[in-house]
Amino acid sequence: MINAVSMPEEIREAVSPFLDMNYEKLVLDAEKMKSIYGGDIPIVPPDQYFPVYVQAETGCSWNKCTFCRLYRDRTYGVRSLEDFSKHLHSIKEFFGKGLAARRSVFMGDANAVNIDQKVLLQMLDMIQSEFNLPIFSFVDAISTQKKKSEIHFQEMREHGLKRVYIGLESGDPSILRIFNKLMNVSEAINLVNKIKGSGINVGIILMAGAGGKKLYRNHIDNTASVISQMDLGKGDIIYISPMYEYEDTEYYNVAQDLGILSSDEKLKQIDELKAKIREEFQDFNGKPLECPIAPYDLMEAVY
Ligand code: SF4
Repeated sequence: MINAVSMPEEIREAVSPFLDMNYEKLVLDAEKMKSIYGGDIPIVPPDQYFPVYVQAETGCSWNKCTFCRLYRDRTYGVRSLEDFSKHLHSIKEFFGKGLAARRSVFMGDANAVNIDQKVLLQMLDMIQSEFNLPIFSFVDAISTQKKKSEIHFQEMREHGLKRVYIGLESGDPSILRIFNKLMNVSEAINLVNKIKGSGINVGIILMAGAGGKKLYRNHIDNTASVISQMDLGKGDIIYISPMYEYEDTEYYNVAQDLGILSSDEKLKQIDELKAKIREEFQDFNGKPLECPIAPYDLMEAVY
C-alpha cells in the first residue's frame, strides 16, 4: 500500500495540497473564492462543470425574467480591461497547480458576449494568453440578436470562443411573455442560426414544467417547432432541466393559476419534449437531429 511517506516524490508533491487539507482550510478556501467572484460562482451548463470560471461582467444586464433569481442580488457591470487582468491573475494564483485539472474557461456571468466587441475580443485574448483553454459562455437571446452579427461571432470564434449556451426555456410565445423574456421566437431562431453560421456551437437550455399544466401541450409542440428551425448538428447540445418555481419570484403567483407540475410530471414532460423535438426536427429538415438531448438539473453545478 502507498502512503504519503512512501510515495514517489513527484506524486507526493502533486497530492500534498490535498493531504494538507482540513475543514478550516476548506472554509478559508471557500471564502477566498467568494471574494474573487463577489459571491458564489453562478450556474454553468453540465458539460462545463469544473471550468476555470472568469467574470468578464458581473450579473445579468436584463435581470427581469419573472422566474429567475440567479443574479438578482448581483449588480450588473462590465469589468474594465485593467480590472479583468487583475481578476484573471487572482484566479491563477488561487487555483495554482489545480489549474492543470481544468479543461475549459467559462466566461460569465449571464451574457458576456454582449460586451462591446473591441473590448470583448481583448478579453478573449487575455483569457487565451493566461489559460490557453477553449472558452465557453452564455448568450441571452433578448439583446444579443440586435447587437451582434455573424461576423462578430466569427471574430469571437477566431479569438477562442467554442460554444455558447442560450436559455431559451420554451418555444411557446405566451410562456416567454409570462417569463418576461422579451424576445420573439424568430429572433431566437435567427440568433442561433447566425451563431452556427459563424462556426461556433450552441447549447440550448429548456425547462420542463414551463407554463405549468395549462400550457403543457403548447410548451412541447411550440418548443419542438422552434428547435426544428435551428441549424443544430454535431457539436451542439440541448439540455432540459425541471423548472423550479420559487415562492419569492414573480412567476410563482402566475404558476399557481397555470397549475404547477409535480416532479414526476416534469420528468414525463422531459421525455415527451425529447421525443417531439426529434420527431419535429426530422419532419422539418428531412434528416435526424444529430445532437444529444440531455436531462440535467439546474440546481446542480460542480466547480
Ligand atoms: S433568465 Fe437569463 S436573461 Fe433572464 S434574468 Fe435570468 S440570467 Fe437574466
